[in-house]
Amino acid sequence: MQCFTQEGTECGDGKEIGLKDNFKSGFVTLIGRPNVGKSTLMNHLIGQKIAITSYRPQTTRNRIQTVYTCEEGQIVFVDTPGIHKAKNKLGDYMVRIAERSLTEVDVILWLVEPTTFIGAGERHIIEQLKKVKTPVILVINKTDKVKKAEVLTFIDAYRKEMDFDEIVPVSALKGDNTDVLISCIMKYLPYGEAFYDEDTVTDQPERQIVSELIREKALLSLEDEIPHGIAVVIESMKFRKASRKRNKDKGEGAPEEGNAARSSTVADIEATIVCERESHKGIVIGKQGAMLKKIGSKARPEIEEMLECKVNLQLWVKVRKDWRDSDLYMKNFGYNPKDSE
Ligand code: GDP
Ligand code: MG
Repeated sequence: MQCFTQEGTECGDGKEIGLKDNFKSGFVTLIGRPNVGKSTLMNHLIGQKIAITSYRPQTTRNRIQTVYTCEEGQIVFVDTPGIHKAKNKLGDYMVRIAERSLTEVDVILWLVEPTTFIGAGERHIIEQLKKVKTPVILVINKTDKVKKAEVLTFIDAYRKEMDFDEIVPVSALKGDNTDVLISCIMKYLPYGEAFYDEDTVTDQPERQIVSELIREKALLSLEDEIPHGIAVVIESMKFRKASRKRNKDKGEGAPEEGNAARSSTVADIEATIVCERESHKGIVIGKQGAMLKKIGSKARPEIEEMLECKVNLQLWVKVRKDWRDSDLYMKNFGYNPKDSE
C-alpha cells in the first residue's frame, strides 16, 4: 500500500506514517435527469452555493468541479448536464460532455427520482452505464417526499435493471443519509494525495459563478416567458476599497483577518444578459426596467455572500440571434466546443 508523508513523498514501508497515510482522492461525476437534484446534492455536500439550482431543467451547462475534503480523503465532484437528446449545438455539446465524463472518473453517481417507474430516459442511461467499467452508485434522491417503506420497492425495481455497486437513498434537500453516501464514495476512491488544498471548494473562476447566479435569477424571474436562450456575460468585475463612510459604519479599526479582508471592498460588476430575439429583450428589461431591476436585486445579495464584499451590479441586455447555434458565440459565452471532443 502506498502512503505519503506530509510533504507528499512516498514512504515504502509504512513506518513514517504522516498525516496523509490512508488518504484517498478521486473524481466523481453526478449524472441524472434534469431536475433530479444533482446541483442540490452537490451544494449540500459542499455547504456553499456553487452549481446553480432551479426548478427548470438544464440550468447547469458546464462541468463544474467542487471539492469535498475530510480526514479520510478528498472527492472532486464534476456536475454534468443531464444526458438527453440534443436539439442544437449547445444541447449536443452538453451530451458529449456528460458522456465523456463517465469514463474519466473514479465513481459515477446516478441520481434518480423516488419511483418504481423506469422509463425510456432511465433505460438510455442504464445502457450507457453498462458500457463503462467505472463503479456506479445509484442514489435515490428526494426520499423526504415518500414513505420509508416505499424506498425498498424503488431499490428492488432498480436492482432488477442493473448490478449497481451501491444503492443509497438520500434527501439532498434535507441532508438525510448524505454521510452514508460520502462513506460509500470513499470506498471506491484510490489512495493518493489531495488534488487541492483543504480550503478549496471550487476551481471555478469567480466570474463564472457570478454569471451563473445572475442567469439563475433571470430564469426564475422570467417564469416561462423566455425559454433557455439566455446567456450572461460578465463584462467587467473590479474590486476597490469602500468609501470611508462605509468603513466607519462597520466599525473601522477592528482587526480584520482571513475572509474578512474583503469586507471593506466593493466589487463593481457589469454584466450583459444576452437573448435571442428583440421581443425577448423587451421582456428581460420589463416596464421601465422593472424586470431587470428585479433580477439584479435578487442576484446581488447572493453575489455579495459569495464574494464576501459589497457589490455594485449593473445589468445590460443585448440581442444575439441564434447564439446557441454558433460555435463562435458559444466560445464567447464561455462554452468551449473543443471541451467536449
Ligand atoms: P438538477 O437539475 O439535477 O441539478 O436539479 P436541482 O438540484 O436544480 O433541483 C431541482 C429541484 O428539485 C429543485 O427545486 C430542488 O429544490 C428540488 N430537490 C432537489 N433535491 C431534493 C430533495 O431531496 N427533496 C425534495 N423534496 N426536493 C429536492
Ligand atoms: Mg443542476
